[in-house]
Formats: sequence, structure tokens, C-alpha cells
Amino acid sequence: MNNYNKRIFFSENLMHWNTMHNARTMPWKGEKDPYKIWLSEIILQQTRVEQGLEYYKSFIKNYSSVQQLAIADEKAIFKLWEGLGYYSRCKNLLASAKYIAFELQGNFPEKYTEILKLKGVGPYTAAAIASFAYNQPYAVVDGNVMRVLARFFGIHTPVDSTIGKNYFACLAQELLDKQTPALYNQGIMDFGATICKPKLPLCDTCTLKTACTAFKKKEVKMLPVKEKKIVKKERFFYNVVVAYKDEIYVRQRTDKDIWQNLWEFIAIDREEKITAEEFMKTIFFRNIAGKNFIVNHISPFYKQQLTHQTIHAVFIYINIQKPLKNDKYTCVKKTALRQLAFPKITTLYFEDKLTLKQ
Ligand code: SF4
Repeated sequence: MNNYNKRIFFSENLMHWNTMHNARTMPWKGEKDPYKIWLSEIILQQTRVEQGLEYYKSFIKNYSSVQQLAIADEKAIFKLWEGLGYYSRCKNLLASAKYIAFELQGNFPEKYTEILKLKGVGPYTAAAIASFAYNQPYAVVDGNVMRVLARFFGIHTPVDSTIGKNYFACLAQELLDKQTPALYNQGIMDFGATICKPKLPLCDTCTLKTACTAFKKKEVKMLPVKEKKIVKKERFFYNVVVAYKDEIYVRQRTDKDIWQNLWEFIAIDREEKITAEEFMKTIFFRNIAGKNFIVNHISPFYKQQLTHQTIHAVFIYINIQKPLKNDKYTCVKKTALRQLAFPKITTLYFEDKLTLKQ
């Protein structure tokens, strides 16, 4: 089969599979409201569909339009986002909602280039919104799409290289069914997610296998090729939960780091692990706790896996006799603590038996 025929085979059979066999259901599928599509796409960036689903439903239930989102209380939005991770997405979501509501008079941008100007929206999300909401001919290119193309066409160019990204973007655009871009885009994404999966793809029953290069050459496991190995680093967070009477000291994270805008106790992070008891001998701890404190409890270490980082956190809860002299932190009533948005690892601590009842 020559290259031209192979491309036609691919597009035709993919569309046939999408029409006849694609059983994947998602609440935003077939959605035409650009606000809801945008919301679902932002939530799904770096997030599994199963995890993002409930968040999507909550956002739609609480803020059914971009105008409602634009005037919402920021704290409430971050609270709703709690546990989803990558909080810069939430920040961008709010900034873009305000931009659309106040500068575009509530009209969601329609042109691909205008959609691309929204904060947190890259080529993939812009193509998804342009094609799903407005049926414009822009091909989506994400990990699923590149995997399907790399395998079917036997492409060994690394998907994470500049050359590779450009190559896959051009190929995806050429293959796009320009008459029905929304259906085509949804089809290739669903095909990658349910048939040509990263692990254990369903090659035996695959509708594309007779022309699939990777299948014929037994290279399915080798593709797609990635150039860069992800270097994961470990971080150990030592949290001192300082209680004075019925209040706890907290602050909002502002540094350009993970969990920006979320709340934390008095905390420090290190690259190597020490025990909680060793930590309590450090200058950092002694400066906070002073001499007159009572250790209420010490939690076990909790673990949270981020894409490039493995986070470990321990919580040392102490009662102090005099208020702290530290204007970086504010006091919040224990009963109001859960109204603030904390990192997921802290919510694990809250949910554990060591909840802050004392
Ligand atoms: S035959 Fe296997 S590798 Fe080829 S497209 Fe189908 S699922 Fe993917």
C-alpha cells in the first residue's frame, strides 16, 4: 500500500470505527458549548478522565456559565479544584473567565488564533474547542493521537522532540477529515484511549491492523519513541501544625513552585529524609516552637506522586502557650480550616485518624 492509500485507509477506517464501534461515553462528548468544552479540556490536562469527571460535574453545577465563573470567589474555586493538582490551571481558568466575561463581553472567542490567546490554552486545547464547538478544521494532537500515528505509520521520530512535534502536527492536520473535524478528532482520541492504548493495545481486534506498520513489524511496544527520560525528584515536606488556643497558623503558597495559591502549615522541604524526631531538633523547628510547646501528635509520612516529583510529607502537631511572632502566617479557626484549599497530601492527613479535633 503506498503512502497516499495508507493515509486514506487510516482516515476512512478510523471514521468507520468511530461511527460503528466507538462506545466511549463522556458527559462533554458532543457538547457544543465552548465554555463547557474549555472547562473539560482544562480539567483533563494532566488528569485522567475518571479523576476529572466529578470535578467537571461540580464546576458545571456551581458555575454553569463563564460569567458565573468570572465573578466567583477565588477561594471557593480553588477549594473546588482541591485534589486535582497543577493549580496553575485553576489560576489560568479564572484569569481567562474574567477576560472573556469583562473584555469580550461574555462572548467566547471563536477563531482558533483568538482561542489560543486564552491563558492556559495551547494548540491542543485550542484545536479541541475550535473543532468541537465550531466544527473548524483543526486537528488535535495529544499523547493519544501521536501514539496512534507513530504506531500505524511506523514513525520513529521522538514525539517529544521539536522535529517530532512538528511532524506529528502536520501529519495529523493532513489526515483530518475537514468535513467533520469534530467527529474525526473525537474518534482518534477515543481510539488512542480505548484501542491503541499505551499498554496492552487491542491489536488482535483492531480495525487498522491490516495496514498498521508497527503491528506488521512487531514494533508496537517500541512506539512511540521518547527522547527525554523523565527525571523524578523526591521532596520531603516537614509540616509543623502550630495550634494556639483554637486556631492554627497557615499561609497561602505564593512561590513559583508546586501548589501555588494553595494553603499550607508552617513547612519546609528537604531533598533527603530525616525522621520527625530528628526534624524536631533542627533550628527551623526550634525557632517556631520555642521552648514551651506540647507535641499533640506526629503523623506518619504520606506520599503523593506528581509527574516529575514524589512528595512525602509528615505533620507534627504542637500546641503553643504564646502566640507566634511571625507575620507571614495567619491564624485560622480549626473549624474553618477545611474551607481553605490545601494540597492533596494535606487532605490525606485531614482524612486520616489524626484529624484536627483537638
Ligand atoms: S494494530 Fe495495534 S498498534 Fe496498530 S493501530 Fe491497531 S491497536 Fe494500534
